[in-house]
Amino acid sequence: MAEEEVKDLELMDKIVSLCKRRGFIFPSSEIYGGINGFWDYGPYGARMKRAIENLWWHEMVETRDNVEGLDSTIICHPRVWKASGHLDQFSDLMTDCKKCKSRYRVDQMADPTTCPNCGSKDLTEPREFNLMMKTFVGPVFDEEHTAWLRAETCQPIFVDFHSVRVATRQKLPFGIAQIGKAFRNEINPRNFTFRSREFTQMEMEFFCDGEEGMEWFEYWKQQRINYYKNKLKFSDDFFRIYVHEKLAHYAKAAIDIEVKFPFGWGELEGVHHRGTWDLTRHSEFSGEDLQYMDHDNSRKLMPTVIETSVGLDRTMLALLCRAYDEEKAATAKEGMDEDTRVVLHLPPLVAPIQVAVLPLSKKLKEPAYALYKEIDRHFRCEYDETGSVGKRYRRQDEIGTPFSVTFDFDSANDNAVTVRNRDTMEQERVNVTQLRDYLEKQIEA
Ligand code: ATP
Repeated sequence: MAEEEVKDLELMDKIVSLCKRRGFIFPSSEIYGGINGFWDYGPYGARMKRAIENLWWHEMVETRDNVEGLDSTIICHPRVWKASGHLDQFSDLMTDCKKCKSRYRVDQMADPTTCPNCGSKDLTEPREFNLMMKTFVGPVFDEEHTAWLRAETCQPIFVDFHSVRVATRQKLPFGIAQIGKAFRNEINPRNFTFRSREFTQMEMEFFCDGEEGMEWFEYWKQQRINYYKNKLKFSDDFFRIYVHEKLAHYAKAAIDIEVKFPFGWGELEGVHHRGTWDLTRHSEFSGEDLQYMDHDNSRKLMPTVIETSVGLDRTMLALLCRAYDEEKAATAKEGMDEDTRVVLHLPPLVAPIQVAVLPLSKKLKEPAYALYKEIDRHFRCEYDETGSVGKRYRRQDEIGTPFSVTFDFDSANDNAVTVRNRDTMEQERVNVTQLRDYLEKQIEA
């Protein structure tokens, strides 16, 4: 293995271990040995996940008059998945090694004739494996009562298209967005949360006149690129656009936004021009006419769909991978004797804790705690009084807190506190009356 690859694997191990140690992400059901492909988000993880979710919702729904929100069920009528093609086609090719019993997705093997684990050439014939997760609805466990956990959040958007349009009186073009769980029985879950069997998607389907489809595709592609650059602060070397050349027969254009994970480039989001395929299929299978009546031009049309589809878990993983850093010798600056500081350079908008309030001494607990309670109403905050201030800074660095506010013995007299910046480690004296404003500006920057 090349030196670079070993380093990347080590980096991934360090991220996984920090996530466990500091309560971001850990294996589900760990005391029972875990369950492959399922992950729990601990206190900081849950806060960060919610922050990303809120940011996406804010950008995609709340700030737009022409995008509506939806929160649909995970289990839908089984015909939904027949119409979408998932029951017949949502499968990957799988092969088993007869010698060591390992199982693989054929398209992920460097050499599909050799077992990557033991090198044996004795593999089973590749066969189709459907990724839909099956369950039963009601007390009888038979074919008639079989249902499926949704494999993507967008299908219920198509199914509810008509109801949402009527309820909101939206005219084309407009979008419907939803955040929620999706389930896929992935053959080989791996790379931490990157490929899980239960995960969260954030999807938006934009319905428009086919004539304007490509314009809207370009628009949404640009909007999403801007979001990664300006809100999540992804630099040009961290993400790239992959243009699909082989398209589904109904699609007109498709790109993926890919991110440079330590284990290689991986898909984070897809922006797809899906033509009229989805609504046409649901019209056929349900018998409901899902065409749009354009009263202004006295015509009926089947809307064209532009989709933006991103994984929340992958976004969080990308942010953590991008943020993780070990800085040699930086600690001396704050009088600490370890030689490395571990720091997450997370964008303040999505950091699990945005502001930590630290009294210089426990004697200052009362006013410091009161200040914490005050700013906690406006930011994600934490109060910490245990250990030296240097150690507390270090704890906050490790979870990516961009600002630490220290309340010292002068604070009571001059009504000012010291704000320490995570990235520069510089300190600034800020008047308490200006604090909220100061922090808001820095967080939004
Ligand atoms: P992949 O090729 O990686 O399997 P996909 O093309 O099947 O992904 P989509 O169906 O386009 O993925 O889903 C949209 C988004 O949902 C993906 O870009 C990704 O962020 C997320 N996603 C898909 N599958 C998983 C998974 N198993 N675990 C975590 N996130 C996922």
